[in-house]
Amino acid sequence: MREWSEHYLTSKLGEEEMTSEDRPMCVVSHLDAGGPCRRPATLEVYGLPFCETHGAEAKAGAANEAHDAAADEAERVAQFFEQTHFQNELVLDALYSTPQLFREGGRLDTEERDRLVREAYPLIEERVDAETINWNPGDFTTDAPVDRWGGALWMMHAFMRMAWSRSWLGMEEELEPLRERCAAQFAAALVYSDRKLGTKEQRREARERAARLRTEEEEASR
Ligand SMILES: [Zn+2]
Repeated sequence: MREWSEHYLTSKLGEEEMTSEDRPMCVVSHLDAGGPCRRPATLEVYGLPFCETHGAEAKAGAANEAHDAAADEAERVAQFFEQTHFQNELVLDALYSTPQLFREGGRLDTEERDRLVREAYPLIEERVDAETINWNPGDFTTDAPVDRWGGALWMMHAFMRMAWSRSWLGMEEELEPLRERCAAQFAAALVYSDRKLGTKEQRREARERAARLRTEEEEASR
């Protein structure tokens, strides 16, 4: 599955392109990402040139979105087949096991994906979205910035995959700056989430500490 996505959505630049004087520069240029990257490209995602760091993030996002979308589509096919009168248990079994293959086969786990986003889009304090800065984790009426920007980034990948795979007037190139904004703001939201809630490790330690205290209290009261 991983090979499929790499072949389908991304490709490494050939040796000739890598050594050519016209070697393309990384496409990343949004101000939220720090302006033009200017590093030479090493790979393409959705047919656009990326440097190694920005490319690793774009590739991971593209693979994750494409595999989840494929899994959803495979699920719909299985449900459709189940409702027809051509039901064959073996075919049904095969159809229902396909979505899981897509989900497991081609996506990075969340922590690895977050690491690549943070690496590709270091924090630029003055570009952080005001709602991220002012986010109050105790206010449950608004979604956390990581969820909002993570969702927006996901949607941008879906639009870009469709634009690119259907050759929609080169739309992926126009969508890319917006995708960069979402990626940079998602990376910033991750940093602010750590600042306001503590890092994942700190939260895990706090939970373990609380559990230990509860056990000690229970034992003491016996
Ligand atoms: Zn770059």
